[in-house]
Amino acid sequence: MAESKVRRMWTLPGAELTAPLALLVQGGDPNTLLTLPCPSFLIEHPKGLVLFDTGCNPKIIDDAVGYWGETARHLPLKWSKSDTLDKQIEGVGYKTEDVKYVILSHAHLDHAGGLTYFPKAKFIVGSNELRYAYWPDPARRWAFILDDYIPTRGYDWLELGADFDLFGDGSLKFLLTPGHTPGECSLLVNLPNRKILLTGDTVHVRSAVVTEATMPLDTNPNQSVESIQRIKAIRDMHDATMWITHDPEDWAELPHKIE
Ligand SMILES: [Zn+2]
Repeated sequence: MAESKVRRMWTLPGAELTAPLALLVQGGDPNTLLTLPCPSFLIEHPKGLVLFDTGCNPKIIDDAVGYWGETARHLPLKWSKSDTLDKQIEGVGYKTEDVKYVILSHAHLDHAGGLTYFPKAKFIVGSNELRYAYWPDPARRWAFILDDYIPTRGYDWLELGADFDLFGDGSLKFLLTPGHTPGECSLLVNLPNRKILLTGDTVHVRSAVVTEATMPLDTNPNQSVESIQRIKAIRDMHDATMWITHDPEDWAELPHKIE
């Protein structure tokens, strides 16, 4: 097995959203409310800092309805200006300019809000994600905020239609796990003492991993089920720990700094 070159990974907190289980899992109880973390993951590799996801746009702290529109009324949030992504990165001893690569699990409003912190970075995203984000189906439009991407048109984007070993050393594997959106991806992080599989929104809560339940907003539910089966196989066959971005138990139980 290739030697791990990842040194450490921090899970950085972002906004906390409140949403009913019915939004996260097809057939879920609309009266069960969950408090959802929206973290970003900062990974230290000798070839540079890699960030997986960028959380929500900080403009929602002062004026969520102004930036997100009516959506904000259905997703109450808790977030403070002292906890924005730039400050979180400074908190672990880096600056936003130090981030060389940004991997976007997908372009939803709670993942793509911080792209403009990194104008000099190389952005990596699954094929068709950006095109879809610009013109989604009407029923899914609320989850994509055009102002999150318009300023990034001139950025250095690498769109991948296949899995990719980022630095050719087996330490960071970009994995296509589409279905939630056309270009949804996951990232297998090979840390010195354990492997973590960052699943983005391939699945939303632990119970949906077991039942292989899709999410009402998924663009292709059949593909979502295959992707959930894929991440389960990777978890089991690679002895990896899954980190489900929005799962409150993962957030509470997994260490936020892993070396
Ligand atoms: Zn999503």
